[in-house]
Amino acid sequence: MSWKELWSSDLQDSLPLRFIVAALFLAGCAAVPLESSTIPHPSSRSGPSAKHEYQEAVGVIHVHSTYSDGLLPVDRIARIANAQGLDYLIITDHNTLQGRREGKQGWHGRTLVLIDDEISTRGGHYLALRLAKEVPRLQDTRWTMEAVSAQGGLGFIAHPFWPRRPWKDLQVRGMTGLEIYNAVGDMTGKKILWLGPWLILTGSEFSITQWLTRQKESLDLWDTTLARGDRVVGIGSTDAHGLRRWGMRLGPYATLFKLVRTHLLLPEISEKAIYNALAGGHAFVAHDMVAEAKGFSFAAVERDKVAGIMGDQVIWGRGLRLYAYLPSPGNLVLFKDGRPAAKERGQQIWFDVPGPGVYRVEATRSGKPWIYSNPIYVIE
Ligand SMILES: [Zn+2]
Ligand SMILES: [Zn+2]
Repeated sequence: MSWKELWSSDLQDSLPLRFIVAALFLAGCAAVPLESSTIPHPSSRSGPSAKHEYQEAVGVIHVHSTYSDGLLPVDRIARIANAQGLDYLIITDHNTLQGRREGKQGWHGRTLVLIDDEISTRGGHYLALRLAKEVPRLQDTRWTMEAVSAQGGLGFIAHPFWPRRPWKDLQVRGMTGLEIYNAVGDMTGKKILWLGPWLILTGSEFSITQWLTRQKESLDLWDTTLARGDRVVGIGSTDAHGLRRWGMRLGPYATLFKLVRTHLLLPEISEKAIYNALAGGHAFVAHDMVAEAKGFSFAAVERDKVAGIMGDQVIWGRGLRLYAYLPSPGNLVLFKDGRPAAKERGQQIWFDVPGPGVYRVEATRSGKPWIYSNPIYVIE
């Protein structure tokens, strides 16, 4: 069986499930079992082309608990993640690792909880992962970034264009990555006034997807940084606080955990593997509330073999092609060096690689943003 046939057989197996999930969404059901997909990740299949043996870990990044200004304690948040079948959960309270000192890091049921830090700098918020100890807050931005790197930590620019805490130094280099989507950034201003009553009236998570936007400024910043030759990992963040205003639940953890997830490709689910996948960009960001995203793949393929996955560097050759697999049909845009280079509709999409460059894809469904791959770096 060829690689393409192998992958298309995944679709055949899952068609009834796709239909049921779609019907549940249309019914506005608030409890869609998103974790119930049985689509196996293509790379997990044996076959001549399944060179890499990654598994997919689905989780959420950037969550606040009662250790800072979140509504719920870590244990309760972990239970919500667990109920959704999430593989990992990264708690990032403001300027503290207290949760780790109190033993909250570790497995909570099937979810691995990691306790990290969102550092307030003088020029914006910086998500710092894999820190050994806290970095002082309210320091110069570049100083903070260096302090994180000096500990072997990973650093991500948080909500770079959120009006209340924008990132000021847009020319900065040296971060691991940035948030290409932050849910709080999608719930500001007039929108929040409409979204709250709408949620209460409809009780439907499906309706939230109507408010989803492509966060163009963050994506443009990412593209600009990639185009100048930097390796920058894109992550999706919930920034969940369990927000309540005027007696309304405007940002429940459970809702945000379905709205944006960061899917990782890794050899196993462990603390080390999660951080390595994030450091290496073996990741994609998805709005799983729009449609199930598990199983998505974007790879460089040469002579029917996977030459590299998202985050990898691949040497350009005439036979090199890019392959995107969507768990269900959608529209796909290929970006080369930060600019749209090709558009296709379908489920299994091939692109020729005209030459070296930085390649990433974005998928949409029904006009809504859905999946953002991390780039593949094709070099001479
Ligand atoms: Zn923040
Ligand atoms: Zn935050």
